[in-house]
Amino acid sequence: MNSEMSVIVVGAGLAGLVAAARLAQAGAKVRVFERGARPGGRAKSVTHDGVTVNLGPHALYRQGAGMPILQRLGVKPQGARPPNDGWLCKDGRLMALPGGLGSFLSTEALSHRGRLGLIGALASPIRPQGDVGAWLDGLPEDAAALLRALLRVTSYAHPVERLPAALMLGQLRAGLGGGVLYLDGGWQRLVDTLRDLAVAAGAEIQTGVEVSGLAPGGVMTEAGPQRADAVVLAVPPPSLRRLGLDVPHSRPVRAACLDLVLGRLPVPERRFVLGLDAPRYLSEHGSVAKLGGVVLHVMEYLAPDAPTAGIEAGLEAWLDSVQPGWRAELRHRAYAPALIVQHSQPGERLHITAPEGVFIASDGQNDALMADGVILAGAEAADAAIRQGARRIAA
Ligand SMILES: Cc1cc2nc3c(=O)[nH]c(=O)nc-3n(C[C@H](O)[C@H](O)[C@H](O)COP(=O)(O)OP(=O)(O)OC[C@H]3O[C@@H](n4cnc5c(N)ncnc54)[C@H](O)[C@@H]3O)c2cc1C
Repeated sequence: MNSEMSVIVVGAGLAGLVAAARLAQAGAKVRVFERGARPGGRAKSVTHDGVTVNLGPHALYRQGAGMPILQRLGVKPQGARPPNDGWLCKDGRLMALPGGLGSFLSTEALSHRGRLGLIGALASPIRPQGDVGAWLDGLPEDAAALLRALLRVTSYAHPVERLPAALMLGQLRAGLGGGVLYLDGGWQRLVDTLRDLAVAAGAEIQTGVEVSGLAPGGVMTEAGPQRADAVVLAVPPPSLRRLGLDVPHSRPVRAACLDLVLGRLPVPERRFVLGLDAPRYLSEHGSVAKLGGVVLHVMEYLAPDAPTAGIEAGLEAWLDSVQPGWRAELRHRAYAPALIVQHSQPGERLHITAPEGVFIASDGQNDALMADGVILAGAEAADAAIRQGARRIAA
């Protein structure tokens, strides 16, 4: 690697920090421009009276595409696996979420036919063709409803019917098999660790600097043109458009998130609940990861174009039934009506033609989902920039 090669990375979310750390560790001279006051993007966390809260519920896939990339950079994500069991909610009634053989056999959520259907769908060695709708078609409705809830929780996508079945099943198996980690210190710790690794390898990270466009041989900032041998754009699709790139229209994965800090959980055994008849999620993260207190995430998965009016009240009413008494325990509350988890649906690729020397690390660049997708995109963009540098030396 040419130690003289210079690279500008735009954006200090996970994708940009992974790219920056990888490039700097390979010997490039790296400058990162982040318009926010601190690195993190959608992976940032906030701290209230010593309790750390992520921006909506975040879980890192232990067997996802991102984990080996993080480990190779020197990150060892610390955290814990949430228990497999929990509850399913239908018509205001709670039923056991099958997390093991006992609850699988006893849950009221599944009929005998539903149990057999679920086993058939999950254990079949045949890769499902087509979309989820076709895959679920013919399954007993109770098995299909449970699978929909599980596919939602592992992808955050809703509705799932038109999504590619093989991809969605692969993600579900990764969630059920390898499981996920709730991260100690929130996702901000992952962000900070990546930042520290990038800086330790020589990268310079400038916050409060917005890149307004591409310039010949670099980018434009308020301070004028900034030059480099390569540019990595680690920003979401709307920001890519503002920078002048032609980015196809996509359908975002969105969620309405109610993030709460409570003094205690009123009904401690109800830590994890998935809606069966409504696309809803509830999970208490602070008893699994070290966050400094009780952190309850309540969320509604949103269809790409769905209106958001009335959802907050619906989530609170749901919480009243699942965790009666939560209002008296409230220490902190934040509601976001429509956060963008991913700017494209699972399997929806965004083909973007970038000028020579410009590399894209963003949503929709590969088939990995959510953070796994952008971590992979960040690593691949860095590798492409490194290859470009190597070709120049060879030439
Ligand atoms: C509610 C919610 C829940 C989620 N849950 C999970 C989960 O459980 N598991 C999982 O794997 N993933 C999850 N994700 C997804 C995960 O958070 C994202 O995939 C990841 O954080 C995206 O990182 P990024 O670097 O690609 O983009 P971003 O985080 O959006 O970072 C882009 C950065 O670029 C900066 N920027 C933009 N334009 C410019 C510019 N012109 N100049 C300078 N800087 C610029 C922004 O300020 C930002 O900091 C969730 C996301 C949300 C919103």
